[in-house]
Amino acid sequence: MSKREHLIYDPEHECMSRDQLLALQSVRLVETVKREYENVPMYRARMDEKGITPDDIRSVEDLKLLPFMEKTDLRDYYPFQLLASQKSEIVRIQGSSGTTGKPIVAGYTRNDVNVWSNMMARTLTAAGCTRDDIVQVAYGLGLFTGGFGAYQGADRLGAMVVPMSSGNTQRQIMMMKDLGVTLLCCTPSYAAYLGETIHEMGLVPGKDIHLKAGCFGAEPWTEAMRVRIEALLGIDACDIYGLTEIAGPGVAFECLEKHGMHINEDHVIAEIIDPATGEPLPYGQSGELVFTTITKTGMPMLRYRTHDICSLTVEKCACGRTLARMSRITGRTDDMLIIRGVNVFPSQIETVLVGTQGVAPHYMLIVDRVNDSDTLEVQVEMTEDMFSDTVSHIEAVHKHIADQIKSVVGISAKVTLVAPKSVPRSEGKAKRVIDKRKL
Ligand code: AMP
Ligand code: ZN
Repeated sequence: MSKREHLIYDPEHECMSRDQLLALQSVRLVETVKREYENVPMYRARMDEKGITPDDIRSVEDLKLLPFMEKTDLRDYYPFQLLASQKSEIVRIQGSSGTTGKPIVAGYTRNDVNVWSNMMARTLTAAGCTRDDIVQVAYGLGLFTGGFGAYQGADRLGAMVVPMSSGNTQRQIMMMKDLGVTLLCCTPSYAAYLGETIHEMGLVPGKDIHLKAGCFGAEPWTEAMRVRIEALLGIDACDIYGLTEIAGPGVAFECLEKHGMHINEDHVIAEIIDPATGEPLPYGQSGELVFTTITKTGMPMLRYRTHDICSLTVEKCACGRTLARMSRITGRTDDMLIIRGVNVFPSQIETVLVGTQGVAPHYMLIVDRVNDSDTLEVQVEMTEDMFSDTVSHIEAVHKHIADQIKSVVGISAKVTLVAPKSVPRSEGKAKRVIDKRKL
């Protein structure tokens, strides 16, 4: 057995030949398209509009004929109209924040939870996790997929799970130390924060803290951040990727080669498209990542546009897996920001401001990272009238905006009311965001 063979959870699927994989994907795609056409009126109408029927989809080659799906579809058909199963078959709802203040929700059947758990079991195994490990889940456990995904994967491996959820850093570290936790799952920014706090507390990784690896994702991060986390915690830090609409974390995961994230291609088909034309791009080229689920039954997604930008490769990985790898996410095609793990669109903030008397719709969002935690400042211009109003009225408006942002976007922001005409105007596309985060 090679040094790392034991780090593959399902060699049959993770190491199958590309030809075999393509054949399997084709069979599963045909079934999924049929299911979607028969059960989801919106998608059936979209296929009818394009003049195609399930009979036109015979293999992965035909994927490009299918219409795309978008995040807006999840909003427009909220909460259950995209289900391809009976509602009684749904055993779980997970979600993430959306632009209207309502979450984007996805329904999972027992099969879907099972598929997702499997993907996460592969993910954790690739980072070195076995049944002998103690896994601390410091992703939020709730509607957000991070916590449940990590819990399910570790549970499937028979590891000992410590479901801490996010926050309460001192308590996290106490448990980590007392239980001898060996594997950590959380966002990379929280991993760095935990690392710093561990050092501030005078604890020594290797002596007081026994972590060996971590699976970190849900937000963009860089190689520099990896180096920092690995040094702070004395571990291997692996990147993991996922999104609520497709399955949550575990859609793709890094092996210990740390050279791109293997995509669970027996469950999803990945494409890279030109975001402007929608045309598929060859391996190696950077573009928008699009996923088609081929084993989900609750809410299958066909050609779902993630708006995440990356590239794919099918070059063989030294770990032995044949699954394609995606590069780090290098950006987005839309203006979505991820702040403290929450998806934030500037348009949400604009909606709040436009609906508030006394302020002009001129604003700037300043995003930064202080002590490894994201901060958001919203600078908004007062109208001339407001500027010369009483202090107590200005304070009331200030509080109203802060409360509204918290309720619509789901995170707190520092609101700064600035003088009329002080937010820079631009002649072309307005620049509304300054993202100072050095990841
Ligand atoms: P959510 O559905 O709330 O879990 O958010 C999914 C989004 O989070 C994705 O579309 C990505 O933009 C982002 N994301 C998740 N994992 C990663 C990762 N490892 N690197 C960069 N972005 C990520
Ligand atoms: Zn690999």
